[in-house]
Amino acid sequence: MKTYKYRLGKQSNTIRIGNLLDDMWQVHVYFHKWQRQRYKDGLPYVNFEGMCDHVKLMKDTTHPHWKALPSQAIQQELKRIHLAYDRFFKKLGGRPKIKKRHKFKSITFPGHAGWFLKNNRITLTFRKWNNGKWRFDKVPYTFHKHRQWHGNRISRITIKRDTCGVYWLCITTTYTDFRPLPTTGQSVGADFGMKDAYLTLSTGEKKQHPQPLKHSLNKLRSLNKALSRKQKGSNGWWRCVRHLARLYRKISNQRKDFHWQLASELCKKFDTIAIETLNLDGMKRLWGRKVSDLAFYQFVEILQYKCRKHKRLLKQVDQWTATTKPCSECGFHNENLTLKDRQWTCPDCGAHHDRDINAAINILWAGIAIT
Ligand SMILES: [Zn+2]
Repeated sequence: MKTYKYRLGKQSNTIRIGNLLDDMWQVHVYFHKWQRQRYKDGLPYVNFEGMCDHVKLMKDTTHPHWKALPSQAIQQELKRIHLAYDRFFKKLGGRPKIKKRHKFKSITFPGHAGWFLKNNRITLTFRKWNNGKWRFDKVPYTFHKHRQWHGNRISRITIKRDTCGVYWLCITTTYTDFRPLPTTGQSVGADFGMKDAYLTLSTGEKKQHPQPLKHSLNKLRSLNKALSRKQKGSNGWWRCVRHLARLYRKISNQRKDFHWQLASELCKKFDTIAIETLNLDGMKRLWGRKVSDLAFYQFVEILQYKCRKHKRLLKQVDQWTATTKPCSECGFHNENLTLKDRQWTCPDCGAHHDRDINAAINILWAGIAIT
């Protein structure tokens, strides 16, 4: 499955998508509260089919205005709720949360009904009350089709609202992107770092992270100050909020761009890539904001996707494997090594090591050993 994202154009009836999102949020809140109340009353959990039946009943009795919402989208929302509870019952996730209105960002349509695609135009089917009857109301929206999607079947579409107030169309197709690259016969170990470099390769190369958050920190501070001077809810305040949201989006785009480029570079050069499994919570306690800015986990996810696409082998060494202290030449454990030592000489074989490169080489050996 692959998802393509397109930006929806601004037009006068975009507001209807916003209203639709808000209405769907009410469905979301209602059913979460309903399930919680049932639990309090000692009644059993109602699954997806049961909730669908309940919607039908509500449309005829207490909530006739829900007939105006696309029923496919309601069903998808109920499916999401059911999945959240299912995970909760299987102890895979926490208790399902009720989202705040501004956190409810997307609605999904299944791959066959409620919408129609042609060229760079998507037609959504709303319903309206007209002459004593519910009628279909088809509204076309244009989007910026910067690329063609692949795959013979669209499995679902999602409409998203981001914090900047921009709407996006996500088209998920059944296409699997598989374009193997020619083999190079090279393997590499990579060590994530905080101090000297973002990524140290066993070849001795060091990759620096642009750290976009750190770069924009002054701008962020001044914008936040400007925001706090303004009266909450006023026009100027909203303008400032959006300005801030756009800056955050820019930062995250810069970070993502760097990650994709780096992952792509690694996949082009090497057949096998070995990395460490990260202990992110421990790192966050130690380093705070910088960890979020470096976004290791996002990079690992991108790298996993890229490796699948280009038929590369990604090996993850578990976090209990010692990688820093052993000497990569002879295997001597240097127990006296502290965080401050960036360079050290092995007392056993006399090899001179850079701390990170040594770790990267150890990761490579440990990675190759995994079968
Ligand atoms: Zn040694």
